[in-house]
Amino acid sequence: MSTLRFYAVKESLGRKPIPVQEPERRSDIFERNVFNESSMRQYLTKDSFQSVMSAMEKGTKIDRNLADHISTGMKEWAITKGATHYTHWFQPLTGATAEKHDAFFETMENGHAIEKFGGTQLVQQEPDASSFPSGGIRNTFETRGYTAWDPSSPAFIYGTTLCIPTVFVSYTGEALDYKTPLLRALQAIDHAATSVAKYFDKNVTKVNNTLGWEQEYFLIDSAMAASRPDISLAGRTLLGHTAAKGQQLDDHYFGSIPSRVLNFMRHLETECMYLGIPVKTRHNEVAPNQFELAPIFEETNLAVDHNTLLMDLMNKIAEKHHFKVLFHEKPFAGVNGSGKHNNWSLATNTGVNLLGPGTTPTKNLQFLTFFINTIKAVNEYEDLLRASIASAGNDHRLGANEAPPAIVSVFIGSQLTDVLDELEKVTDGKLSPQEKTDLKLNVVGKIPEILLDNTDRNRTSPFAFTGNKFEFRAVGSTANCANPMTVLNAIVAKQLLSFKKKVDDLIANKKMKKDDAIFNVLREYIKESKRIRFEGDGYGEAWEKEAAKRGLSNFRSTPEALKAKVSKKSIALFEELGILSKVEMEARHEIELEEYAMRIQIEGRILGDIARNHIIPTAIQYQNILLENVQGLKNIYGTEFKEFAGEQMHLIEKISGHISKINKGITDMIGERKKANIIEDPEERAFAYCDNVKPYFEIIRYHCDKMELLVDDELWPLTKYRELLFTK
Ligand code: ADP
Ligand code: MG
Repeated sequence: MSTLRFYAVKESLGRKPIPVQEPERRSDIFERNVFNESSMRQYLTKDSFQSVMSAMEKGTKIDRNLADHISTGMKEWAITKGATHYTHWFQPLTGATAEKHDAFFETMENGHAIEKFGGTQLVQQEPDASSFPSGGIRNTFETRGYTAWDPSSPAFIYGTTLCIPTVFVSYTGEALDYKTPLLRALQAIDHAATSVAKYFDKNVTKVNNTLGWEQEYFLIDSAMAASRPDISLAGRTLLGHTAAKGQQLDDHYFGSIPSRVLNFMRHLETECMYLGIPVKTRHNEVAPNQFELAPIFEETNLAVDHNTLLMDLMNKIAEKHHFKVLFHEKPFAGVNGSGKHNNWSLATNTGVNLLGPGTTPTKNLQFLTFFINTIKAVNEYEDLLRASIASAGNDHRLGANEAPPAIVSVFIGSQLTDVLDELEKVTDGKLSPQEKTDLKLNVVGKIPEILLDNTDRNRTSPFAFTGNKFEFRAVGSTANCANPMTVLNAIVAKQLLSFKKKVDDLIANKKMKKDDAIFNVLREYIKESKRIRFEGDGYGEAWEKEAAKRGLSNFRSTPEALKAKVSKKSIALFEELGILSKVEMEARHEIELEEYAMRIQIEGRILGDIARNHIIPTAIQYQNILLENVQGLKNIYGTEFKEFAGEQMHLIEKISGHISKINKGITDMIGERKKANIIEDPEERAFAYCDNVKPYFEIIRYHCDKMELLVDDELWPLTKYRELLFTK
């Protein structure tokens, strides 16, 4: 009997929901472990408080002398909350968050000891950076990197450690993390969107990008997850026959949440409250044992920090409830994978959502301006947007008829399509008073009314307008949202800047009124960005053909998709906006290619190991039982034995057939890996892994999964899909 599998199943069947303590009101504990405005008021001097606030709001620098006061106040606050250590908390390009704890504790010369945390330790640290990916930046420039405080995201206490959100850069200034380019892109969009928003309201002085992510994930019993080498090491199953029942009955989606899971969620959400992560929505997702969590949206830098922190927290809380969280985009074949929808909008300091239709024609013209410019930006940079969400895991999802396709397009719904069709007819040049009145009354003026009815939502679109925000749905569940958010904000910023230039030019040189100029430019944009708009079924083959005709890119694999990150056009965009330099972009491209190749390499090794060392020996064991049976029948029935042993002999042959196919597949795959490994160029190597190594996964898996159907269940070593997915 396969000990580990049955031990795991037995363990998981005996589980009971773990009791959870929840506060009476969540609002009572919200941000209790965050160094927020009210804790700052309590622990900082007036000067220090004001300098942090101004750094948060306006990005001003914090005076070195004040830094000492701030760090001392922060430390005092942290100690009252039970913190013993501090760390700079950052997001290197590994995809995980990084932390290195140092104790506040220090000894003094007189043999006494104190708790200390100075301004320099708050502002800057030098972690040993050599083991983080840099794509060769550090070889070319400088060997050291440092982390620097990002005051725009508040410090918080995680466990017993004071965490200070920081950026991570090399000594020569190159970004080595996700946060640095994001902050630069947020500045760019603020600058560009503010200048355009001023057309409509002079009082706007700042525009914040807002992000509301929706995190999908699977929860698997921890004993069962540990029983599978593929789940333990790769976060997904590399083989396993689908269960007789999957998601076809739709009986999980939005269903009653299983008790063990609900307690995990309640526990998690309580911890989120302490950390200031404003989680709001929880529900079952489509696949069995798949769930979703969504917060109230926030300013994007904070939302990204909260999402990365949440993912770490989920792992920790899951352990306490004997679960393992699978964030992978495709943990199981045959049922849905997981994504992380990024809801994106722009909000002014005057409290207006620029993608929310308003109550007056002016407000709506403002809405249309931002709406159409966003569509235009996506049209211009659809390939870069696709590149921003490329990963080995997401390749399984995009284009697999369950998630948005690998083709980027924009869905806006039939009502807004009608509005754009009307706007397209606007006269070239100055508008007559009658036309303006008509537009204001019948087109622009009607928007709020129609949007309320616009409940038609196309789930197959990768980039959909959903009433008051755009929803970028193609983002993978493991992704750091900073990556797609940097690109989206950069392309929209660039677009808004060129819009502003055009409108100003028409006003100055063609003596047009502001509204006329805006209508004229928008009309051209609508025409120019038609190819990106698609309202139909994104899963269909017809769309692939149509998209090809429209000249839209359709990159099915990561190495292909990533090319757009280093195209001349993309580099020019990022350099122009001061987000990343050519060197930095090329370094990131290289890191992502390397990560891709390594992931496929690791998966290949795991698959080879499981198939050769678990599946084949089991198959032989079962075959021996069959052989013994056949031998016995022969002993008793002599020449007539075949009458009784026919099926068994057939099975013996089938098993031998699969064994030889699996063995050949593994041998060939290893041969391709060896060839790929000696390729120096990271891009070529990634392509070799993608085109020559990865195709063997399917072949090997196919025969292993067939074998699962043949071999005695009692002998099968790997925890099966029905056990993984249907144990609650
Ligand atoms: P759904 O799209 O699942 O029906 P909602 O439309 O209520 O649900 O919101 C989904 C997500 O969109 C939530 O995380 C929410 O915070 C976010 N969201 C709502 N408004 C905005 C906005 N203006 N900017 C960014 N995110 C937003
Ligand atoms: Mg959802």
